Amino acid sequence: MNIRSGAELTADHEVECDVCIVGSGAGGAVLAAGLSARGLKVVMLEEGAYRTSDDFRALSERVNTPMLYQERGTRSTSDVAITILQGRTVGGSTTVNWTTCFRTPERILSHWGAHMGLDALAPGSLDAHFAAVEERLHIQPWQEELVNANNAALARGCEALGWEAHVLRRNVKGCANSGFCGFGCPFDAKQAMHLTFLPDAVKAGMELWSCMRAERIEVAGDRAVAVHAVAMERDRDRTGVARLTVRPKVVAVCGGAINSPALLMRSSIDHGPLGRRTFLHPVIAVPGEYSEQIDPFYGAPQSVSSHHHIDRGADRMGFFLEAAPLHPMLTGSAMPIFGARAAKEMAVLPHLSGLIALHVDGLLPGDDGGTVRLRSDGRIAVDYPVKPWLQEAMTASHAALARVHLAAGAKRVFTMHQQPTELWSPSDLPKLAEARYGAHAHAIFSAHQMGGCAMHADAAKGVVDVEHRHHRVPNLFVVDGSVLPTALGVNPSQTIYGLAHRARGFVADAAS
Ligand SMILES: Cc1cc2nc3c(=O)[nH]c(=O)nc-3n(C[C@H](O)[C@H](O)[C@H](O)COP(=O)(O)OP(=O)(O)OC[C@H]3O[C@@H](n4cnc5c(N)ncnc54)[C@H](O)[C@@H]3O)c2cc1C
Ligand code: SF4
Repeated sequence: MNIRSGAELTADHEVECDVCIVGSGAGGAVLAAGLSARGLKVVMLEEGAYRTSDDFRALSERVNTPMLYQERGTRSTSDVAITILQGRTVGGSTTVNWTTCFRTPERILSHWGAHMGLDALAPGSLDAHFAAVEERLHIQPWQEELVNANNAALARGCEALGWEAHVLRRNVKGCANSGFCGFGCPFDAKQAMHLTFLPDAVKAGMELWSCMRAERIEVAGDRAVAVHAVAMERDRDRTGVARLTVRPKVVAVCGGAINSPALLMRSSIDHGPLGRRTFLHPVIAVPGEYSEQIDPFYGAPQSVSSHHHIDRGADRMGFFLEAAPLHPMLTGSAMPIFGARAAKEMAVLPHLSGLIALHVDGLLPGDDGGTVRLRSDGRIAVDYPVKPWLQEAMTASHAALARVHLAAGAKRVFTMHQQPTELWSPSDLPKLAEARYGAHAHAIFSAHQMGGCAMHADAAKGVVDVEHRHHRVPNLFVVDGSVLPTALGVNPSQTIYGLAHRARGFVADAAS
């Protein structure tokens, strides 16, 4: 793919275009392909570098994590209670994601209609968009016989308990079942954006800049008139020497949740609940040790999901269960234990299965999730207090995952507390009630960031309208996970692809 790199830019540069897109991930790439196919001149800015399977073949967590993730893999909430995994490379988080694909659940779309005035997104309204991206990204059910032992433990445990569980759909073609999705697919099997919608857009004439960070959007009156960007060094999170100024008719912000609201804040476009209602699908993990070899680092990372606990009633937060790949560095850094204890657990890594629970934030009345803000030096901070309802759900989800492992035949289950609770049989389950749950009590993660530029029909309650148009700056659009007004209860990539596919028409009309 023909890409320009800010790292090689030696002098300041200026360009005019129809649409400037900031960010090359799930939202930006799908939008770009549609606009470029319509003959619009598109300039895309991506702060991360362009990496391909040639880079990914190193198969090194140590090398690939800082290369492909925001803040070199160290992003977290400001109190360091929640580790935040988010991509930063051409293709965004789709380059490192685990390929699970779900259409947006109907109950979520109905909730948005009832509470956010988003009736235009009623169940069924996105079907044609979902079908189009399913075809381009080869989204298909994973073969049951290829489910790895890590995910099979989830399926087996749920079946024994009588809980719903099913095999997932994945955006892959010719997948070698290797297990390295999180470090970039070394086989070009994952149909990530750098292999699909971005080459489509570049072939149709888009100018794509890697290593180019949008710092500020200039607004004159109620019009976005320029995007001011700074070149980045290729291998470090450090700005280079040259600057790029883009003068577009329309700006589309697609930097993902957290970075998109931060860009609008830096640009002083602070309308509505900007940065607020940031959702993380907060994740807890419970490993189980099995007699047989699990090798939780090999095989498609996610292929089974259980939604048995997704609806726990009107006043309790729901959660869903999946598996996570246990690569050595990821596992070692995630477990809040040290020394001999950590060495003991790492020694049995091939026999561990890592099951996770993802909590659905933003649906309960009063659950505003977290907040993105800028620190005094301009860096991003994410505040995410663990509220009582999340604490209650985490207590329940620890017990649910322990029950799954024991029903699946685990000989030992342990929690990710600093003083782990260990269980050997169902009679040990009451021990879980003695533990503390919430921030700093045990490990918490997020790989699904949503919200911060919430979509809402009411201009006072949202940052963008149902057509992704900014409520105060009509030639500014936000097309990424930051517009989601609540978490989804499913992995978010396909919702973002579908929404971006729908947004193409609105952005094109504004630029024509
Ligand atoms: C490890 C991991 C596993 C995941 N697994 C799954 C999964 O299996 N299924 C699923 O559905 N979802 C998964 N996700 C989440 C999913 O990939 C994301 O929700 C989705 O890609 C978000 O799309 P986006 O367009 O909002 O942002 P992104 O895809 O993150 O893209 C945003 C891009 O914008 C760039 N950017 C940001 N700010 C600027 C700026 N100022 N200037 C220039 N560029 C900028 C970023 O560098 C980034 O490349 C996973 C995520 C991670 C990290
Ligand atoms: S599991 Fe499949 S999609 Fe993931 S890295 Fe391996 S070959 Fe690529």
